[in-house]
Amino acid sequence: MEQLQDSLGRRIQYLRISVVDACNLRCVYCMPSNRLVFTKFSKLMSPSEIGTITEAAAEVGTRTVRITGGEPLTRPDIEDVIARVSAVPQVEDIPISTNGIYLMEKADAIASAGITRANVSIDSLKPEVFREVTRGGDISRVIAGIDAAASAGIWPIKINTVLMKGVNSDELVQLARYSLERGYSIRFIEMMPLKSNVDFQPQLFFPAMRARSILEKEFRLTPGEGGIGSGPAVNYDVDGYEGRIGFITPLSGNFCSRCNRVRITSDGRLRMCLFGDDMVDLVGMLRNGGGRAELIEKLRESILFKPERHYLEVGKTSSETLYAMSQIGG
Ligand code: SAM
Ligand code: SF4
Repeated sequence: MEQLQDSLGRRIQYLRISVVDACNLRCVYCMPSNRLVFTKFSKLMSPSEIGTITEAAAEVGTRTVRITGGEPLTRPDIEDVIARVSAVPQVEDIPISTNGIYLMEKADAIASAGITRANVSIDSLKPEVFREVTRGGDISRVIAGIDAAASAGIWPIKINTVLMKGVNSDELVQLARYSLERGYSIRFIEMMPLKSNVDFQPQLFFPAMRARSILEKEFRLTPGEGGIGSGPAVNYDVDGYEGRIGFITPLSGNFCSRCNRVRITSDGRLRMCLFGDDMVDLVGMLRNGGGRAELIEKLRESILFKPERHYLEVGKTSSETLYAMSQIGG
């Protein structure tokens, strides 16, 4: 079986597909409140195009395909998209990243279509703070949606929290307790500078080390087995709980050397690095008559140009094209 490797020997087994760039929220760190033009539904990759791209990636070693966005559950044909990915025999794991707002309605359908596990974003449990950060979201829907996902067999569940000084930095223990008491894991993510947030990112930036020392006063944390896995999080076991606490440190602790992923944007372009601007139009190839074999060749060729690392700093982004994280799916 072929395993795609980049020029630094990193094995690429993980594909993140942004199935839509639109979202029903406008989180302050991810999107501006206005000036965003979303891809028209007719220009998004169709379920069948997503299926063909997944088949090609699976031929060269992809085993995990994450469905992300924008908000994937705003796509009316999301079950069809998931079913096409799930139909690819080599794909073993299909997690979804969602803000959870539509999970109550969609949990059963996406579980039946093939979703295995979910990451749900919660930055605050306080209704008014949640509404402010997301510019309008209702936390009670998210909580009910996560319960529905767990009942539908979507498991494990991970909560993603973007650390923000003075916004949720006083709530870290409560967020961890909410997650751990229900058997979920939680990951605290350092806020990354993008073109849309670079003006205020330095004021909000809260380093993961500080979050860890706050949490260590409440929980006994031990570096978990596989604590530093192939993914970006550094995970800790927590005494008395099954779920773990993880930290994702794009600024304070670069993890590019263990990167195992590539991304596809909602308009079908392969992006080798979240903060690398080079993209390859895979869906354009398909629409011009290309097939699976051409896609595989393009994947092999493109992966050699995966950048070694990003060069983010507090208040300094390293991509000219990444305006909102929703364009690419995080
Ligand atoms: N809408 C879904 C959600 O919110 O989970 C999926 C897409 S969202 C772009 C994926 C992840 O990116 C979320 O966990 C979100 O918190 C994270 N994210 C967005 N902008 C970010 C930023 N500037 N820094 C760090 N994480 C960010
Ligand atoms: Fe939407 Fe997710 Fe971005 Fe929030 S983080 S605006 S929910 S895509």
